[in-house]
Amino acid sequence: MKLVSLQSRGYRASLVCGMFDDVIWYQAGLLMAGDNDFMKALQYRNGRLELGEVGRPSPGGREALVRVTLAGICNTDLEIVRGYAGFEGTLGHEFVGVVEAGPDDGLTGRRVVGEINAGCGECDLCQAGDPRHCRRRTVLGIVGRDGAFAEYLRLPVENLLPVPDGVADRQAVFVEPLAAACEILDQVMIGAGTRVAVLGDGKLGQLIARVLRTTGCDLTLFGRHAEKLALAAPAGIRTALSSAWREVSGDGYEVVVEATGSPAGLEMALAMTRPCGALVLKSTFHGPVTIDTSRIVVDEIRLIGSRCGRFAHALDLLAAGAVDVTPLLSRQYRLADGVEAMAEAARPGVLKVLLEM
Ligand SMILES: [Zn+2]
Ligand SMILES: [Zn+2]
Repeated sequence: MKLVSLQSRGYRASLVCGMFDDVIWYQAGLLMAGDNDFMKALQYRNGRLELGEVGRPSPGGREALVRVTLAGICNTDLEIVRGYAGFEGTLGHEFVGVVEAGPDDGLTGRRVVGEINAGCGECDLCQAGDPRHCRRRTVLGIVGRDGAFAEYLRLPVENLLPVPDGVADRQAVFVEPLAAACEILDQVMIGAGTRVAVLGDGKLGQLIARVLRTTGCDLTLFGRHAEKLALAAPAGIRTALSSAWREVSGDGYEVVVEATGSPAGLEMALAMTRPCGALVLKSTFHGPVTIDTSRIVVDEIRLIGSRCGRFAHALDLLAAGAVDVTPLLSRQYRLADGVEAMAEAARPGVLKVLLEM
């Protein structure tokens, strides 16, 4: 019976080597593990989402221990529970927290957000300062690294950025998806007057529209939900229903950003891109999609995959008050109610759901 309770505390991996090893470990556990060594975490394992008690992370090398205060549920978390990325462990990659311990004294005790990709540090990409694309990277709550839906997490200290005093936790928790929106500005030339369409009125599409709006471009946000589009109007963003795209689009857009999360949205995004324009892809699908490549070839359309961005830019936008993220908040739950919170986040019409620790 004792072994079962230890197993539920996340030591599954220690229990696979036969009875003799189990007993040795069990004794070591009794000697070493006080209650302070455990924490609550929302995990996805063996096809199940559940709140469990697991060992507190022990940071190694250049890693810091961060006490999570607030985390955001992203569509990627919902996709993982549907099988995307084959991830098992603690979910979550959008967070704000406080550094409890780490190799950099300057950060200890400070409020931080954290870039989610941790590179190997040795490959050509890491050496060139690009751990985001390291082939051997781990990604917080997505690839090989436990995430932020827990009381504590560990990340390399280089990934952490202090949050300016004027930025509240409920704003800072948006930095990761906001940085993903900023990434587009590092990939495509968008300036005053550039004709741009953003497709998708969900969380990411809304953030992208708010970021691109800061450039003074000629922007339209397309979506299928009038009530979600209405949230963008106070930010000065022109909106249109997707069903009306043919009437609204005219000769098409120089830049189209696809953030609908649906293969049908991709087809529509391509149709809206003018010849020699750029189509930025933000949606990830767990399966192949069909696309008319002839159109891309003949009209010389640039297809641009776009994922994570630089956190510094996103923090600057929040600190300057250039982007207001708070209209996108739907509900806040306690971590203990994390399973319910995930179900809420998956409901149609719901935008950002937060977990407080
Ligand atoms: Zn995300
Ligand atoms: Zn690397």
